[in-house]
Amino acid sequence: MFQLEELVRPNILTLVPYSSARDEFKGEADIFLDANENSLGSPLTKWYNRYPDPLQWKVKEKLSAIKGIASRHIFLGNGSDECIDVLLRVFCEPAIDNIVIVPPTYGMYEVSAAINNVKVRKVPLTPDFQLDLAGLEKAIDGHTKMIFLCSPNNPTGNSLDRKDVEVLLNNYFGIVVMDEAYINFSRQRSFVPDLPDYPNLVVMQTLSKAWGLAALRLGMAFASQEIISLMNKVKPPYNINQATQDLVLKALDEVGQVNDMIRVLVDERGRLEQELKRLSIVREVYPSDANFLLVKVDNATGTYRKLLDNGIVVRDRSNVILCEGCLRITVGTETENDALLKALIH
Ligand SMILES: *Cc1c(COP(=O)(O)O)cnc(C)c1O
Repeated sequence: MFQLEELVRPNILTLVPYSSARDEFKGEADIFLDANENSLGSPLTKWYNRYPDPLQWKVKEKLSAIKGIASRHIFLGNGSDECIDVLLRVFCEPAIDNIVIVPPTYGMYEVSAAINNVKVRKVPLTPDFQLDLAGLEKAIDGHTKMIFLCSPNNPTGNSLDRKDVEVLLNNYFGIVVMDEAYINFSRQRSFVPDLPDYPNLVVMQTLSKAWGLAALRLGMAFASQEIISLMNKVKPPYNINQATQDLVLKALDEVGQVNDMIRVLVDERGRLEQELKRLSIVREVYPSDANFLLVKVDNATGTYRKLLDNGIVVRDRSNVILCEGCLRITVGTETENDALLKALIH
């Protein structure tokens, strides 16, 4: 049985969160003398002298319409990385609890756990980059608070088999975090609409990839209202700054433009895959549901250096488990992809 109160750290369950000036007074007023802001203004034109909305309701309202989920089910973090850190601090007692990750996968789960002194158990994916359900069953114990999954997965690019994820969600009663940073490029559908069925599911997305807003730092977590409330208790009060909230509100009106970019990148992904497969140094191009390709080449490190000599940086993943001999290559513009292919041929 899933019992949220038993998973949460006791100190977080009883925590009285910081109450800011913006929390304590929410009404309309003419004169704000409650937050020790600079009443004269700022060197900038906007209202940057005022603290931002701690719970970012305007941004959430727009996201709610786009994602088809109510605002109370949305948490916003200073990048997904903050969502990961906050989840660890809500659920994992340092030095006692553990999390499970499924390498090769995104590096921040392990680093963030290490920072929080939370042990990490690793259950590698199968050779076709899918979940090892038997291995997971063996690795999980009474102190396993969370399993981090990533689909489409970084750095392999594939989506996890939906059936496997459902088996896990139905049989493991800790928190399953599904990182969907690359979902907009995927042929598979998001787990967001499935949230009502799974009280132990947290879905993460970000504006850093398909939305092209990596510099603004906006990560999203979608979950039950109870989990979102716990995350809000733990986060820094003003974690999303006003400039980010302003710019994101503007960007969220441009869904059409973002969808056009996604189409271009998915087309280029297909073209790059085909062209790469023709090259003699390329042994394998793995199928991708993301905006990058994992490519097995002869002499990965040598190829990496050769590309650098041509002014092209890719990610050398050849030392990563199951990715031996592989480079991870982000899909660029048509011109950039042509330059990459040309550098690989010569
Ligand atoms: C890029 C990426 C993110 C995004 O992190 P942000 O902090 O939101 O920029 C999250 N998860 C994975 C797997 C990624 O590859």
